[in-house]
Amino acid sequence: MNQAVETRRFEAEVQQVLHLVVHSLYSHKEIFLRELISNASDACDKLRFEAIANPELGKEGSDLAIDVSWDRDAGTLSVSDNGIGMSHEEVIDHLGTIARSGTKRFLEALSGDARKDTQLIGQFGVGFYSAFIVADRVTVETRRADAAASDGVRWESDGTDSYQIQQIERAGRGTTVTLHLKDDEREFLDGWRLRGLIHKYSEHIAFPIRLPAEKDGKPTGELEVVNQAKALWTRPRNELSDDDYQAFYKQLSGDFHDPLAWSHNRVEGTQSYTTLVFLPAQPPFDAMFSNREERQGLKLYIRRVFVLDAAEQLLPAYLRFVRGVVDSDDLPLNVSRELLQENKLVAQIRGGIVKRVLDVLEKLVADKPEDYATFWKSFGNTLKEGIAEDTTNRQRIAKLLRFASTAQADGAQSTSLDDYIARMREGQEAIYYLTADGYAAASGSPQLESLKSRGIEVLLLHDRIDEWMTGYLHEYSGKSLRNIAKGELDLGALADSADAAKDADANESSKALTGRLKSLLGDRVSDVRVSRRLTESPACVVTAEHDMALHMQRLLREAGHDLPSSANVLEINPSHPLLVAFSETEDDARAGDLAAVLLDQGIIAGGGVLEDPADFVRRLNRLLVPTT
Ligand code: ADP
Ligand code: MG
Repeated sequence: MNQAVETRRFEAEVQQVLHLVVHSLYSHKEIFLRELISNASDACDKLRFEAIANPELGKEGSDLAIDVSWDRDAGTLSVSDNGIGMSHEEVIDHLGTIARSGTKRFLEALSGDARKDTQLIGQFGVGFYSAFIVADRVTVETRRADAAASDGVRWESDGTDSYQIQQIERAGRGTTVTLHLKDDEREFLDGWRLRGLIHKYSEHIAFPIRLPAEKDGKPTGELEVVNQAKALWTRPRNELSDDDYQAFYKQLSGDFHDPLAWSHNRVEGTQSYTTLVFLPAQPPFDAMFSNREERQGLKLYIRRVFVLDAAEQLLPAYLRFVRGVVDSDDLPLNVSRELLQENKLVAQIRGGIVKRVLDVLEKLVADKPEDYATFWKSFGNTLKEGIAEDTTNRQRIAKLLRFASTAQADGAQSTSLDDYIARMREGQEAIYYLTADGYAAASGSPQLESLKSRGIEVLLLHDRIDEWMTGYLHEYSGKSLRNIAKGELDLGALADSADAAKDADANESSKALTGRLKSLLGDRVSDVRVSRRLTESPACVVTAEHDMALHMQRLLREAGHDLPSSANVLEINPSHPLLVAFSETEDDARAGDLAAVLLDQGIIAGGGVLEDPADFVRRLNRLLVPTT
């Protein structure tokens, strides 16, 4: 055979990744083994799946296995599988380029902190290149399951800027990756060390991982299976320890942290399936992109055969942090993504998973509140999307929400709606809240003044998603939710009749005042009225019941949305010295400045943006030093 060696350059992005792998990843060096075994396992999964439609592929036998071996004299370590293998083109595509947009994000996400960066590697699927952490040369020999023995491929590289590729003869299907270890990485040429790493990182790979058996430090010529080699979710719960679940989660997700909780269930009925879902403690970087194509983390198996990652079909977007596996007994093995979308069984499984996840969250609240707080910090804003998205479970999700509140000094998001209801004042009918751009803006808002002075608690919602979410949450546990910055502040039974009389009185006696302000402000306001909200500040701006909060309007405008200007109401506190001064001002120009500044400061305090900030500054300066 001729078999010329061809040298090709790596794509620029691969070079970048390789450079990084070689020069900055010093901690957790051993993850290369996990990555290579995981690739071998994927290749076995693929063979098993493709062989269903094309039995020819399995003609060399269906006993799939992964062999790890080493040669102390040569300084090499090999990971070998009899999975699907790669064709010449596939080797070039998969080992010479990075087709996935994920890698770009990986490169952007790198922090320069070697420890964190190593953790990212597993999650971003640049796994193969981790071989170069410990090797100065890597050889891959492979043959696709449907190719002839003469169509094998050898790929070799020193991990700098190019690789060699060549056609070879290879008897068996599958892939052998051989690492020529750097001199100071020879510790991996050791049966005990390798066995320990396989237990730690690859125990729950569903295929046998074999090492050469040794007796008294000498090879016996036999192979020994060193892992469980059984799909963990098929084993009964009482056989599995917390350690088993945690190790499986890490293998599944590439996350180095323990999960917060999990739920493992077998459903038998009109259809039978097993689910195993995990709640991570921290956002798994690439699972958090809400874009449907990019969502990953729930693996669909059908009768033990891995079919595809079906996170988009099996999880609603608001639970996209969940990781796990589903194994169905009833779905047909030839399902495609499109078919999954329409399948009734899939819809049922999805409903079942949602229920399980909500169960797990409720249990966490009850049993491990501190872990729930960790969860909320990582994923609270994602879960909030469920209020809009999942009308069926809206009340269950609402029960899981946590907010900052005027009843807590620390600003932590730890008040639930049930906590709030338990603290409600006698006669209080509604749950009061305020949305703002940040905790400081919320807790310092003038709108809170009169509720605070009456001892009424207000929830302080200051995440961007809150304004949108509350548009879908009008009621909880029989109580309505009221934004205190919108519409007239209705305190219901809490406003006693004396208040009402005072209101009427105040409005009457302030008629001249509000009328003058209104005429000076013209169409910048839809109304001016005496406020029930204020006790200390001179004025605030209130939006209409169904208008967006001012800070939200600003955000949307900044994002390029064309919003009609909303009908703002200026509410005033007539006894405030500024309004007293206004009443006493005869000079119309000065009164005009005062009126405009009052409105503008109300807009600023509400998180809005001034249409003409220069005008505001001019007027303010004139008021500060009347001659300017
Ligand atoms: P990922 O596993 O996330 O796709 P890797 O960098 O680990 O990323 O591997 C890149 C690609 O190389 C794989 O997707 C696969 O197509 C191919 N590959 C790697 N190892 C093997 C193997 N042992 N058998 C077949 N294909 C492999
Ligand atoms: Mg991989």
